[in-house]
Amino acid sequence: MGSSPIPEKVPNVETSSASEPAAANAPAPVRPCRNCGQPAPGRYCPACGQATETAQRGLREQARAAYQEWLAPRGRITLTLRKLLFSPGTLTVDYLEGRRARYLAPFRLYLWVSVLVLAAVQLLNLDFVLRVWGSQGVGVLRGAQVPVSEMQIQARWTPVEVIVRHVPTPGVARFSELSAEEKVRFLRGRRARYLSSMLLVLVPAFAAMLAACFHRRHRRFMEHLVFAFHIQAFVLLAVLAESMFLRVVFANVVTWGMFAYFVVAARRVYGTGWAETVVRGAVAMAGYFALFYLANLGLILLLISL
Ligand SMILES: [Zn+2]
Repeated sequence: MGSSPIPEKVPNVETSSASEPAAANAPAPVRPCRNCGQPAPGRYCPACGQATETAQRGLREQARAAYQEWLAPRGRITLTLRKLLFSPGTLTVDYLEGRRARYLAPFRLYLWVSVLVLAAVQLLNLDFVLRVWGSQGVGVLRGAQVPVSEMQIQARWTPVEVIVRHVPTPGVARFSELSAEEKVRFLRGRRARYLSSMLLVLVPAFAAMLAACFHRRHRRFMEHLVFAFHIQAFVLLAVLAESMFLRVVFANVVTWGMFAYFVVAARRVYGTGWAETVVRGAVAMAGYFALFYLANLGLILLLISL
């Protein structure tokens, strides 16, 4: 079926190109690359990769070119975010299969997302805690709109409460004498400096967890790491969205949506069946949240003790 139309098309191509031999054979001036001097006939130098069009452009043209490259509907940022948000796993699959130039690279994407999310955490005064279970569901960020008194009642398993109850150091004792409001203010003030490093350290740890859970797929560590960067970027955005919902029901929908997203993505990346992906994915996600929880615990203990 597929082979019959091809022989018909080939002669057409040949006749059309043969009809203009003079234009094709005319010696096109191949300019040397301005960077390395090698002949560079195309838009980019084949030897060093620099663009051959280096004429100075006006500011408006520069702006338009930048818009086309990054923000336009087919631009890198738009395309990357669209895939990240609405097509779980395809960003990773595309990267691993070599379709890379059209997207932001995984690490770059992650850095931008984490910078934006942490800026929002600071600006909106959000609380970065993990709600393990209870009436508030599983979540990581909490909106500043939630009253502090309510936080304390429902937060028995937050790292702060665990530390205050079980770690008997002088710093913790001093901290536990503060009022609820002072505690929140204290932690918010200090947290910003260390949060991004903690989140960054979690990515390779998550990759190691993925490697353990999906070891039968024989992927390299770097491939798990790329996937981990993409997942963590998505999780940060989802967690920010979750914190915007005051109603617990919506927040829980986002949380379960995160897990569904991860399963679909892992299935695409690792090529596992649904049941296997759900089981292995649940283990990996549980491990990830446990790591998140422990890292947060360690971070808060550090902040209190310093
Ligand atoms: Zn060159």
